[in-house]
Amino acid sequence: MIDCREAVRRMWTYLDEALEAKPAEEFEAHLLTCQRCCGELEFNRQMRDVVAEREGTPPMPDELRSRIDLLLAGAEGMKGGAA
Ligand SMILES: [Zn+2]
Repeated sequence: MIDCREAVRRMWTYLDEALEAKPAEEFEAHLLTCQRCCGELEFNRQMRDVVAEREGTPPMPDELRSRIDLLLAGAEGMKGGAA
């Protein structure tokens, strides 16, 4: 039987379906007895789906967006010819 640390270590490999049969079996056996890891797997699975859906169109971080807004605002000001 593997412990939580080992289960967490295998989690992403499991989600990638890259885990060997035996470690995968041990991992699944742990999930049956461990609510915490079971919840974590569900969470990670959803995270993974969200990331997969957004692939190709990465979300723009708010900080970058606001910086671009500032740049655009600055460019507008220059065009207006403040001096
Ligand atoms: Zn666990």
